[in-house]
Amino acid sequence: MTGLRHLLSAADLDHETAIAVLDTAAQMSATQSREIKKLPTLRGRTVVNLFFEDSTRTRISFEAAAKRLSADVINFSAKGSSVSKGESLKDTALTLQAMGADAVVIRHHASGAPHRLAHAGWVDAAVVNAGDGTHQHPTQALLDAFTLRRHLAGDADNPDGVGLDLAGKHVAIVGDVLHSRVARSNVLLLHTLGARVTLVAPPTLVPVGVEAWPCAVSYDLDGVIADQQPDAIMMLRVQRERMGAGGGGTTGATSFFPSPLEYTRTFGLDARRLRMLPDHAIVMHPGPMNRGLEISADAADSDRAVIVEQVANGVAVRMAVLYLLLAGEREAWS
Ligand code: ASP
Repeated sequence: MTGLRHLLSAADLDHETAIAVLDTAAQMSATQSREIKKLPTLRGRTVVNLFFEDSTRTRISFEAAAKRLSADVINFSAKGSSVSKGESLKDTALTLQAMGADAVVIRHHASGAPHRLAHAGWVDAAVVNAGDGTHQHPTQALLDAFTLRRHLAGDADNPDGVGLDLAGKHVAIVGDVLHSRVARSNVLLLHTLGARVTLVAPPTLVPVGVEAWPCAVSYDLDGVIADQQPDAIMMLRVQRERMGAGGGGTTGATSFFPSPLEYTRTFGLDARRLRMLPDHAIVMHPGPMNRGLEISADAADSDRAVIVEQVANGVAVRMAVLYLLLAGEREAWS
């Protein structure tokens, strides 16, 4: 139906394919309010979750998605496996191939690892990128687009905005863009869907080469909120674990901004900034949140926040992706 063989980057999704995935996700989502959530669609197929980097919600979400489609799920995490004894990606891939994996969902600290897995000829499986380094996280972008479409394009007759895109909508993506695969994936997909994107970050957290991205860049969060009245604001996690010297601590982080307090004052979403947003605007965060740093507790828990809904939508979107990659045109949920 979509002709997708793998999902490695948001760039793999053209307008028509992106809408097809979102529309399929809407159908999947409808099945998730039934008492029996499980569909027989992928019975007999094997989905391997191959996680070389920590993850809670993404791994659980893919696991739930595969199980709701009746696939067999094998969870393979690098810790405690022979990967921690130095087994290469190639050897791991050959093992998965020997086990008959139909889809491999991979998260890896190295940007490009899913691409290598998909194209090196080691596995026949469909490969889904669940986050590689600072590069891409396409299913996050899809679940964000699904959530945005529901809130900004949907109406009483068409609550999920089926068939629609995000033309004319304005999304501000705020914070640690430099280390964010979520930002990279969202900029591409939102652009494909017709939305306007403004990245807001301190200059130290804006990637080199951002001029080539299809979006605007600002260093002034108050200005963007007050003057441009975005329809949605997406707060990014400050990724301290990717900030080098000092590792997970503040030493690394403070080479990117003067102090956590200063960051919060300049780039954090708090009650004051929340009040400046238009009434219909929604607040998003991919999780996990640093409460008190990029987002205050009252912003995270406000009724504008759709952060928990993003998690729920993640399951529907991942069901759609697995279905489209593995079941092709077979009838899914009659
Ligand atoms: N969970 C998202 C990711 O894996 C965002 C984050 O970690 O900040 O990229």
